Amino acid sequence: MSTHRLEPSIFHISRAGRRGLSIPRSRVPKKPLETMIPKKYLAAKAPELPELSELDVVRHYTHLSTMNYSIDANFYPLGSCTMKYNPKVNEDAAALPPLLSLHPYADPSLAQGVLRVMYELEQYLCEITGFPAFTLLPAAGAHGEFTGILIAHAYHKKNGENRHKVIIPDSAHGTNPASASLAGYEVTTCPSNKEGMMDLSALEKLLDRDVAAVMLTNPNTYGIFERNVMKIAEMVHSVGAVFYGDGANLNAIVGRARPGDLGFDVLHSNLHKTFSTPHGGGGPASGPVGVAAHLVPFLPVPRVMQEGGRFVLKTDFPDSIGRITSFHGQVGIIFRAYAYMRILGREGLRRISDFAVLNANYMKARLLAADAFPCPYPKGTMHEFVLSTARGKDVGAGATSIGKRLLDFGFYAPTVHFPIPECLMIEPTETESKETLDQFVDTLLAIRKEIDELPEMLAEAPYNTPLRRLDEVTAARKPVVCSPCEV
Ligand SMILES: *Cc1c(COP(=O)(O)O)cnc(C)c1O
Repeated sequence: MSTHRLEPSIFHISRAGRRGLSIPRSRVPKKPLETMIPKKYLAAKAPELPELSELDVVRHYTHLSTMNYSIDANFYPLGSCTMKYNPKVNEDAAALPPLLSLHPYADPSLAQGVLRVMYELEQYLCEITGFPAFTLLPAAGAHGEFTGILIAHAYHKKNGENRHKVIIPDSAHGTNPASASLAGYEVTTCPSNKEGMMDLSALEKLLDRDVAAVMLTNPNTYGIFERNVMKIAEMVHSVGAVFYGDGANLNAIVGRARPGDLGFDVLHSNLHKTFSTPHGGGGPASGPVGVAAHLVPFLPVPRVMQEGGRFVLKTDFPDSIGRITSFHGQVGIIFRAYAYMRILGREGLRRISDFAVLNANYMKARLLAADAFPCPYPKGTMHEFVLSTARGKDVGAGATSIGKRLLDFGFYAPTVHFPIPECLMIEPTETESKETLDQFVDTLLAIRKEIDELPEMLAEAPYNTPLRRLDEVTAARKPVVCSPCEV
């Protein structure tokens, strides 16, 4: 039996003539629309909008909000996504009335405060990552990758070179090959070695002067720090290619290691992951890109600069890749990340990575000690780890079933089937208590027992959610938002 109530759609609870508020009768005489607007611009029928009282609307959305899973309600160990707690003070920063009322076309003289925050956030990112310049314009991690690859392209073009390949390891996030191909490159996959790191001899064979860039995530998606990163940088540079860093996993090293010092030429960082701004469900996001000195001229415009004590937006950079977004990036996200950094300070930012790594290693150690699920790459775990669920799959209760079963116990499922098939990828983040980590591990151990004893039951999970197993592809492509009230 489901413990959740099903909520009908707002159209089903609509009642003709019901109103949310009443306004005084107007003394201005009525005039038919047709007398003011040409008939061809008028709809034949009024739109079918729901008609409800304020209380109907409040209850409807409050019910829906309790069906929503969020970090404010529960643990969210979604590997690769860094679903840490988002401090509410960040929301205050993003909702400052002068910021909300500022028009993106406002003259810079009227937007000095916003420009200063952007300028300073760029400086902080430079200090944290070890690059001389940043752009805050990209609207997500993937958009940052695309921007970075366009920068690499512009750099080679400027040098009179026409390279056509990008090398990406097999453990990379799917956005890496997508960004490189969208930019027109042929993607070559480099295998991982048995420790879960990039295979150097395979890379050696793939590298030649057709390679425009090598994209590496560090720590990678297995949660492992690529210990050979500086050697890889040397190899990449020896053929004149650009070394791209996917910095989505910066949470594991912030305050401890700087990608700019590790040999990367360009890097995107996900503010919505490391710097705690709400994400999920498609946004909002922000993926600033930092570059080494030789790539600074290619950064997109506008750039926020300081001139005689004033902040200005500059666009006159002849080698720039140009505009990549209509205005100035995701300013609301930029303010949230800025508030987060200012409140934590240097010492606090360093503690993020300490606790993110400690929490992941604690959970992994407990799960491995109980012999629950094998870890294919157990050495060098940073902020997340991967467990194999092959054993469950053999009895019809693999990663998908385990993820669904976790929902019954009130946990969000970890990432499943990425970066390898039949796996769970668990990222606790630094904001969780030992009690929460223990509860999650205990639940996974209980599910592990169910795999042995009740695999058929697991294969049908979940049991306690408003809806059970959806056809996920059809649900995404042809959503039927009214179905609950028809059930
Ligand atoms: C999240 C993530 C991305 C993409 O970031 P988006 O903001 O979702 O576009 C890229 N690489 C890695 C490793 C990630 O975890």
